[in-house]
Amino acid sequence: MKNIILFGKPGAGKGTQAEFLKVTFDLIHISTGDVFRFNLKNETPLGILAKGYMDNGDLVPDEVTIQMLEGEVDKHPNAAGFIFDGFPRTTSQAEALDTFLSKKAMSISATLALEVSEDILVKRLLNRGKDSGRADDQDEEKIRNRFAEYNSKTAPLIDFYKAQGKFHPINGEGSITSIAEQLTDIVEQL
Ligand code: AMP
Repeated sequence: MKNIILFGKPGAGKGTQAEFLKVTFDLIHISTGDVFRFNLKNETPLGILAKGYMDNGDLVPDEVTIQMLEGEVDKHPNAAGFIFDGFPRTTSQAEALDTFLSKKAMSISATLALEVSEDILVKRLLNRGKDSGRADDQDEEKIRNRFAEYNSKTAPLIDFYKAQGKFHPINGEGSITSIAEQLTDIVEQL
């Protein structure tokens, strides 16, 4: 089983690359941001709870996010593996994920980190916001707050996965195809 974490700041290309990996390796793609947006659009209790956090570019509380992620994994008991996109984003999410997977005799195979400078990311996100209409992509202040959330709460996971020998940094500023090739090479060897 291949269980991959796609790691990186907002706009680094996690969603785009997940689409390639999902098809190539027949994996289930779980994007916590997409699940939250689906709930928001459908005005579910979870969506209503998450809205305020998402609109400001803050992280949704761990308990809620962890429970949601576990529910998504449980929907696919026969999966060949998973791509976790946008999860985990805090140390307690990463620890909860390890505990949850180990109860199912599963584990994380690798964390693939797409590295892109913040100045490039701001341009990408503002562009994406024009098409997607995402409120959190349309305002530079909110985008900078998402980076601040990443730098304080998510960046410590780099050492968490390095300590497990699972961290693979990739330059995320190249072409989509060449990044996809690099990721595919790594995943093939897992
Ligand atoms: P994304 O599409 O991954 O950039 O996520 C959009 C927003 O959803 C984030 O800014 C957070 O408010 C929320 N979100 C997504 N994933 C998580 C997570 N793992 N933990 C907490 N909040 C999350």
